Amino acid sequence: MVRGPAACVDFLAEAKRIEPEMIRTRRVLHQHPELAYHELETSKLVANRLESLGIEVKRGIGGTGVVGVLKGGKIGRVVALRADMDGLPIQETSDVDFRSKVEGAMHACGHDTHVAMLLGAARLLSENRKELCGTVKFLFQPAEEHGGRGGAMPMIHDGAMKDPKVDFVFGLHIEATRKSGEFGVREGAIAAAPDTFKVKIVGRGGHGSAPHETVDPIYVAAHVILALQGVSARMIDPVRPFVITVGAIHSGTKENIIPDVATLDGTIRTLDEATRKLAKRRVEEVAKGVCRTFGASAEVEFEKDAYPVTVNDPKTTEKVASILKRIQGTKVRKVEAMLGGEDFSRFLQKAPGTFYFLGSRNPEKGCIYPNHSSKFKIDEDVLKFGAASLAMLAFEFGSPRGPSQVR
Ligand SMILES: [Zn+2]
Ligand SMILES: [Zn+2]
Repeated sequence: MVRGPAACVDFLAEAKRIEPEMIRTRRVLHQHPELAYHELETSKLVANRLESLGIEVKRGIGGTGVVGVLKGGKIGRVVALRADMDGLPIQETSDVDFRSKVEGAMHACGHDTHVAMLLGAARLLSENRKELCGTVKFLFQPAEEHGGRGGAMPMIHDGAMKDPKVDFVFGLHIEATRKSGEFGVREGAIAAAPDTFKVKIVGRGGHGSAPHETVDPIYVAAHVILALQGVSARMIDPVRPFVITVGAIHSGTKENIIPDVATLDGTIRTLDEATRKLAKRRVEEVAKGVCRTFGASAEVEFEKDAYPVTVNDPKTTEKVASILKRIQGTKVRKVEAMLGGEDFSRFLQKAPGTFYFLGSRNPEKGCIYPNHSSKFKIDEDVLKFGAASLAMLAFEFGSPRGPSQVR
């Protein structure tokens, strides 16, 4: 095949050519979802596929992660592309004929499509390696859905962002509520820091008929829950996004026993580090203060190593948007930040880059259910757009002169 100069590689046309292979790969993965840190077969498939493309492979990075390293024929920068690989503990109820074969597990966040698209991009880039400037690192990450113990941090510990040091990093997420073929981009904060907390309220138990002889932790817990909403309503600047949810409360065994202890489990979401710090302090003060008022005591604990805020580098993101605009059949829209968490944030702490979305909602095909729904279903026609976009970002940002000008 005759190849034109670097900027002339038509990655969308090439992605269309390999579309059936990407869809096949995606369906195989969809039928065999693996939960966080158990992505053994998935990472084997990834490693074998990369090797078959002549890409250097490092296995067991950050547990079940895989890193592929593709050196281009020309000098340039190091660009990393990331796909997460884990499924979710959900029993699939979608109407596709390639439904999950694993009881109680499902690719309901589209990480199967992320793997298929990144493998597609790896193929496109390896086929154009002579024209490729710099080095591309393919980061296949385990356990994105694992809360504070996600796979990005252990991958970084295992050197995923070093040797060679990554200059730019990009991550793509499929979004089932966005229109099929629409890219969502945003400069600055795009996903929240999700801080999980636990409040242990210690009272003094006794008989349900004699509350005056006890310190009732259930009664105190009710006050704590209400007061915590006051952190959001009265203590945090209303123009700074902040959410607090108490999602679980545990206490008691029987109607006539006042227990000793009640525990609350909750999460707070913020989009900047200053608000995050303040909110955590206020949550602790309010919980302890309310407990003290009623004669109880409180232990407040935040989960260690929660994901940081996902912050897209503004200059890089602007260039990304201009590159995505060239992909025919797609649209690029500026999106609002979400208060979900993403451990792609950890890679963005090591190199500038962008986390962006690709819509896959198509009511005509019944693709209307959101990510994490048991009926989650995506429009597979968008896989080619995702693969082309990843390949283009690696190609353009790899150039020592930087990405070509907006057209
Ligand atoms: Zn998810
Ligand atoms: Zn996800």
